[in-house]
Amino acid sequence: MARYVFITGGVVSSLGKGLASAALGALLQARGFSVRLRKLDPYLNVDPGTMSPFEHGEVFVTDDGAETDLDLGHYERFTGVSARKTDSVSSGRIYSNVLEKERRGDYLGKTIQVIPHVTNEIKDFLTIGEDEVDFMLCEIGGTVGDIEGLPFFEAIRQFAQDKPRGQCIFVHLTLLPYVSASHELKTKPTQHSVKELRSIGIAPDVLLLRSEHPIPEKEREKIALFCNVRKEAVIAAYDLKTIYEAPLAYHREGFDQAVLDAFGISPAPKPNLDRWTDVMDRLENAEGEVRVAIVGKYTQLEDAYKSIAEALTHGGMANRTRVRAEWINAELFEREDPSPFLEGFHAILVPGGFGERGTEGKIRAAKYAREKGIPYLGICLGMQMAVIEAARNLAHVSDAGSEEFDHEIGKKRFTPVVYHLKEWIQGNHLVARKHDDDKGGTMRLGAYTAALKPGSRVAQIYGATEIEERHRHRYEVDVRYREALEDCGLTFSGMSPDGRLPEIVEIKDHPWFIGVQFHPELKSKPFAPHPLFADFVRAAVDVSRLV
Ligand code: GLN
Repeated sequence: MARYVFITGGVVSSLGKGLASAALGALLQARGFSVRLRKLDPYLNVDPGTMSPFEHGEVFVTDDGAETDLDLGHYERFTGVSARKTDSVSSGRIYSNVLEKERRGDYLGKTIQVIPHVTNEIKDFLTIGEDEVDFMLCEIGGTVGDIEGLPFFEAIRQFAQDKPRGQCIFVHLTLLPYVSASHELKTKPTQHSVKELRSIGIAPDVLLLRSEHPIPEKEREKIALFCNVRKEAVIAAYDLKTIYEAPLAYHREGFDQAVLDAFGISPAPKPNLDRWTDVMDRLENAEGEVRVAIVGKYTQLEDAYKSIAEALTHGGMANRTRVRAEWINAELFEREDPSPFLEGFHAILVPGGFGERGTEGKIRAAKYAREKGIPYLGICLGMQMAVIEAARNLAHVSDAGSEEFDHEIGKKRFTPVVYHLKEWIQGNHLVARKHDDDKGGTMRLGAYTAALKPGSRVAQIYGATEIEERHRHRYEVDVRYREALEDCGLTFSGMSPDGRLPEIVEIKDHPWFIGVQFHPELKSKPFAPHPLFADFVRAAVDVSRLV
C-alpha cells in the first residue's frame, strides 16, 4: 500500500507547491520508488475546463480525457508518469458527487454534512489506485486558512488517523520574507501558518521555506523549535534559475532525505540523479539561440501557454540551443502587415485557442510562414488556421472559415472548411455532441490514435506510422476538402484510423510546415523532448544559420 505525502502551503499563494511536489516525485523516483501525484483544488468549479486561461492558466488534458489544473503538467514533466482523471479533483467535483448520491438516495435518508459525507468523498478519492505505487503525493491547492480548503484539510487529517501510524506525512511550504531595513529574514509568518495547521490537527513533518536569501543556521533552529519540526526537516527552497533545477537543488538541501526520514525509511536507497544532471547540462551549456514567435490570443499571462513554453524549451534542449519565445497578440496582425513584426524570427508557432478574436491575424501569420518558407507549427486552432489559409489562398475557397465563428443563427459568413462534427465512433460507441450543449464536456478530449502517411515528414519525425496524442477541441477540418487542398500542396499526412478526421497537415515543398489537430506540447518532457518540438527547433536552427 502506498505511503502518502500531503503537501500544503501557507503565508502566501503561488510559492510553487506544484513544482515542489513534482520535484519530490522526481527525487523519489531517482531513489527507485514509484510515485503518483495528485492535486486537490478547493475552488467550486467542477473542473477547470471552463475557467479562463487569462485567470487560471492553461487547461492541462490527460490521456483519459480529463481537463485539469496546469500543475498536472508539472507532475508529468518531472516524473513522466501519465496523469489520469483520478489525479485531480476540486471541491466542486466532490460536492457534485455528494449531491448526486443524495438525490439517488444513496445515503438512506441521512442528513448530509461536510463531516462525514464530504470528507469521506475526499478520502475515497485519495485511495484510488493506492496499491499501484510506493508513494502517493497529494498537493492541496490554496493556502491553509482558506475557507474553501477546510474540508480538504479535515479530510487529510482524518485520513492520516485512519491509516496505520507512519503511513502519511505532511510537508508544508511557506515563505520567509526578507526585511531589507533590518537585513533580516522573518520567521513569524511561518510560525503562524504552522500554528494554523496545528489548530486543525495537522502537525507538519517537513517544512519547505521559500527564501530569497540564505537561511542562517540560527533561524533554522528557531523555526524547528517554534514549529515543532526536526531541524534537519527545515528545508530551504531558494529561487531557481530554471524550474528544472528543482530536483537537484531540493536534493542538495536534503528535502528527499527529510521525507524518507519522516517515514523512517532507513537506510534510504541512494539516488541516481543522472537524468537531472543531463537536463541541467543541456540547459546551462546551450549554444546559440533561436527566436520563435508565438502568435496567440492569451498573451498577457505566461501560464496560459505553459506547456507550449516548456515544450519549446525541451526542443531547445534536444538541439543544445536556447529558444527565445516571444509572444505576439494575433489581433495586431488584423490591423498591421505581419512582415515587419515577423522578420527576424526563425520560426512561427500558432497555438490553440477558442473564439474568433484574433483568428484573422493568425491566418495572416500562417500565410507569412508559408510564403516566406519560415518553419510553422500550428497547434489545434493553429492547424485549423493554416488549413483555412490554404483553402482561401490556394484552393480558391475565398470565404473559407470555421463554423466556430459562424454562430449567429441565419447569418452565414463562411464556407465551413472547419466544422462542428456532431458524432463519431469511439471504440464501440457512437459519441455525440451538440452545438448548444453545456460548454463543459462537449469536446473531443484526451488521447486518440492517428495513422501517419508512410514517407511523410511527420512519419519521419515520429519514426512511426501510428501515434497517440491528446485532444481538446470541438471543431474538425472537413475531410471533404482533402483532395482540393492536397492538389495545392497541403498534404493530410495524419488521419484518424477510420480516415474521417484530419489529424495532421503538412506542406512538402516547404522547409517545415506542420499543423496538428492535437496538443503535442502536453506530452513533452525535459528528459524526453517531444519529437515535433525537437524537429521544429532544429528547423529553426537551420534558418538561423542561413541569416
Ligand atoms: N476552438 C477550436 C476548436 O474547438 C480549437 C481548440 C483548440 O485550439 N484547443 O476546435
